[in-house]
Amino acid sequence: MTLTVLFAAGQELYNDYQAPLSQALQEQALDAELVTDAPPESVDYIIYAPSSALQDFTPYTRCKAVLNLWAGVEKIVGNPTLTQPLCRMVDPSLTQGMVEYVCGHVLRHHLGMDAHIHARPGDWHAVEPPLAQERKVGILGLGALGQAVAQALAGFGFDLHGWARSPRSVPGMRCHHGQDGLDACLSHAEILVTLLPLTAGTENLLDRRALALLPEGAALINPGRGRLVDDTALIAALDSGQIGHATLDVFRTEPLPADHPFWAHPRVTVTPHIAATTRARTAARVIAGNIARGEKGLAFMNVVDRGRGY
Ligand code: NAP
Repeated sequence: MTLTVLFAAGQELYNDYQAPLSQALQEQALDAELVTDAPPESVDYIIYAPSSALQDFTPYTRCKAVLNLWAGVEKIVGNPTLTQPLCRMVDPSLTQGMVEYVCGHVLRHHLGMDAHIHARPGDWHAVEPPLAQERKVGILGLGALGQAVAQALAGFGFDLHGWARSPRSVPGMRCHHGQDGLDACLSHAEILVTLLPLTAGTENLLDRRALALLPEGAALINPGRGRLVDDTALIAALDSGQIGHATLDVFRTEPLPADHPFWAHPRVTVTPHIAATTRARTAARVIAGNIARGEKGLAFMNVVDRGRGY
């Protein structure tokens, strides 16, 4: 029987995804019809984005899985009408994008590039730059993205510490968990990267206390979620020099309002939530692959644990 796959992520994204998804479904030899509207009781799979108008999943009685186009699920995970498995996006292009974004910004701070970019004529101070082995980097969150970033940074030889909820083992990195582990990771991190999901356990994790544990002048790179950081505490830490620079990709309100103090702060770099975007061609293959697994009776990939919230 032909499967009905409902693309419920909006018309704009459909324009990007229609052709790659149709091709990927074909490559998986799935007899599937991709639609943007259908009677709910006829839908087998829902392709979803948090901005979707679809918020009540109750009538989708036949739906076997909701396949999110985003890695972050904080806007959907608590929806009480969603009883089907929810799969988040883990996509090789998205992961590579994040690795490139984080490595670029870590190297910027490690090498002190800003001093040279903004040097004045005659400003000739030849200071020997440190090597990666001498630079301590912390990564909060050792999931799909945190581990890929760790692997790339380990390739440079950075002195890496990481932190996750559960004990983890990542080559080239000392891994921590629990409150003591968080403090150890923070007190080590001259450059801190936050790749945590937004949950009740991570909201405002980087508060005044946590920021004070970082070595003085540390750089913060946050491509995780804006609400991981207490904005007021961060601005105070930037003003005092406790934080030397913050590179922020995600914010409590997006787009970041033009009058937000982050825009004008000399120690803040704002990027517009572009660290890692979901690319249609590779994401379509991930989605079709997951549907194929479901049809073969295999467990879905990247299923969100509702209890943990990620
Ligand atoms: P993931 O695979 O689910 O990994 C999450 C990691 O965070 C895991 O290591 C997990 O610990 C850890 N964690 C969760 N709650 C924790 C807690 N309370 N205490 C300590 N550690 C905790 O997620 P991912 O794919 O790497 O993505 C991470 C986040 O990046 C996403 O949720 C999203 O917010 C963000 N993101 C941003 C962009 C962008 O463009 N800016 C793009 C994609 C994703 P365990 O290992 O113990 O489970």
